[in-house]
Amino acid sequence: MTQDELFKVLVAHCKEYGFIFPSSEIYDGLAAVYDYGQMGVQLKNNIKNYWWEAMTRLNENIVGIDSAIFMHPRIWEASGHVGAFNDPLIDNKDSKKRYRADVLIEDYLGKIEEKIEKEVAKGRKKFGDSFDEAQFRATNPNVLREKAKWDEVHNRYVAAEKANDFAEYRQIIIDCNIVCPISGTCNWTEVRQFNLMFSTSMGSTADGANLIYLRPETAQGIFVNYLNVQKTGRMKIPFGIAQIGKAFRNEIVARQFIFRMREFEQMEMQFFIKPGTELDWFKKWKETRMKWHVNLGMGAENYRFHDHEKLAHYANAATDIEFNFPFGFKELEGIHSRTNFDLGNHQKFSGKKIEYFDPEENTSYTPYVIETSIGVDRMVLAVLAHSYTVEPLENGEERVVMRIPAPLAPIKVAVMPLVKKDGLPELAQKVVDELKYDFSYQYDEKDSIGKRYRRQDAIGTPFCVTVDHDSLNDGCVTVRERDTMKQERVKIEDLRDMIEKKVSLTNLLRNL
Ligand code: ATP
Repeated sequence: MTQDELFKVLVAHCKEYGFIFPSSEIYDGLAAVYDYGQMGVQLKNNIKNYWWEAMTRLNENIVGIDSAIFMHPRIWEASGHVGAFNDPLIDNKDSKKRYRADVLIEDYLGKIEEKIEKEVAKGRKKFGDSFDEAQFRATNPNVLREKAKWDEVHNRYVAAEKANDFAEYRQIIIDCNIVCPISGTCNWTEVRQFNLMFSTSMGSTADGANLIYLRPETAQGIFVNYLNVQKTGRMKIPFGIAQIGKAFRNEIVARQFIFRMREFEQMEMQFFIKPGTELDWFKKWKETRMKWHVNLGMGAENYRFHDHEKLAHYANAATDIEFNFPFGFKELEGIHSRTNFDLGNHQKFSGKKIEYFDPEENTSYTPYVIETSIGVDRMVLAVLAHSYTVEPLENGEERVVMRIPAPLAPIKVAVMPLVKKDGLPELAQKVVDELKYDFSYQYDEKDSIGKRYRRQDAIGTPFCVTVDHDSLNDGCVTVRERDTMKQERVKIEDLRDMIEKKVSLTNLLRNL
């Protein structure tokens, strides 16, 4: 299966098993908006809990808030979003399809990178143990040719980005013969700027309604509450404020399922520090956040840092944590050193003094900020894409199993009586009563045991517990583990501890 096909199958699976539905589906959907179903919401909540507890419980100096989506419109002037939250858009005149000019160029560069990696893989296969990768990359003519092409386009792209030179974006697209995937032509319009903020009005028109925005990030709700939290929480620098909430962006192109949506959720943490210490803290937060990801067991090789070459004018360091999605390595989380840009601007625009008095040094300053910002939905997609596995079985059939990290699984345990009679359902209900206070569960008595196992595999349930006739006499049940399909007899009273060991969020946090 190609990566594209795999992605389509995954989207269909998510719908079939109640993870994610297109929004307003019976009205033919709403572009780039999705709803979470009965399984999806639990997976999403588990991810949010893992992040929230890791931030606010494991760090004494980080507290959480929940600020409103509507905010004073001046906030978005102060933050720079009214003036500069733009994407460069370009239209293909033949297909009438719209694209982000920067994404077209980045995808083109990505394809060259793929070609290089394919060459290297070929070399590795050909030379076996004696393969010297560094030498191969430095001398193979195909690699060198592609690398030279990549360097040339990349240098032009970085220069155009720095200079905000949109005519050059278009020229790069034309020179590289980047065509529209729909029409296959290179017939492009000029590149234009497009502001991504949604707006609406507050108050009746008679009162003189105010234009307000749906927040495009949750971070500003943290900055404007900096003084409130610092004072009421008696927080001492360094300290952080964390928040999870919805954000809205009128994305130009939104074609990758929940990777890029118009309504999405962010988990953001702003860490307030003394000016001059930011690069140390930046390094520390890079490590901390990478550890949080790798701790889930989805393979360290599937993550990488991508340091920004072009920094926003207020930032002095920025990196992305990229994940190996089915469509390549793409941004999952951003970590930014934002200096005192936001607090400084809110001070200017609001006229309120936003400073921290440092009692040890007897001085006041506007704190600097390190931000960590991750999209909940992108994290859900990372988990789903990584977990989806099709596996051959001994009997020649296949099973689809979602190898979701057990603490994140929507359902932790399924309880099933072998047959619907002989007192087995009653005993199974007793097992449910044992477990339901600690774990999300499903009770299932329909169809053959094999079919029931398949259903649980498809939603990623780590354990299936079967009650059979022997259970009535020996008080034991058969526990089947999702990944290995191994079965073992376990005493009913030992079930709780056994399941807890594997699915516990606490244990996951302990490993951080
Ligand atoms: P991109 O370059 O992919 O547009 P960004 O750099 O604009 O992302 P940030 O503003 O840094 O993203 O937002 C922080 C995080 O929020 C991102 O790492 C991503 O996980 C998430 N995010 C941003 N935009 C979207 C979106 N439209 N849909 C889903 N998640 C998003």
